[in-house]
Amino acid sequence: MFNIDHLGIAVKSIAAAKGIYEKLGLKISPEEIVEGEQVKLVMIPVGESRLELLEPISESSPIARFLAKRGEGLHHISLRVPDLAAVVKKLKSEGVRLVSNEIKVGAGGHRYMFVHPSSAGGVLLELVESRDQ
Ligand code: ZN
Repeated sequence: MFNIDHLGIAVKSIAAAKGIYEKLGLKISPEEIVEGEQVKLVMIPVGESRLELLEPISESSPIARFLAKRGEGLHHISLRVPDLAAVVKKLKSEGVRLVSNEIKVGAGGHRYMFVHPSSAGGVLLELVESRDQ
């Protein structure tokens, strides 16, 4: 079954951006660093889904480029899929534009792939497969 795993939000400062969620009484995960994307992030569980706050740790981060171009805001929507390899194979065979060629491994060991906004109605779409599935 597909679910919305999380919504990714690009921020200049996690310390500043997480304030609203603390005021709402939500729990915020400890910060994690994802070297491959040059970001640090926190996760905020909301019901069965989560919000992901992403802050760049260097200018080479895709999040730094996003902030420079568009400012803070919604960066991507992440769908959890049951079999990522099968989904990616199907999308490739149907000519969908993906951001990378290979499935990547991210925070917490989850496997993920991004679909380019040009193939997803202007939205950057992350597909994730959780490890414990
Ligand atoms: Zn994400």
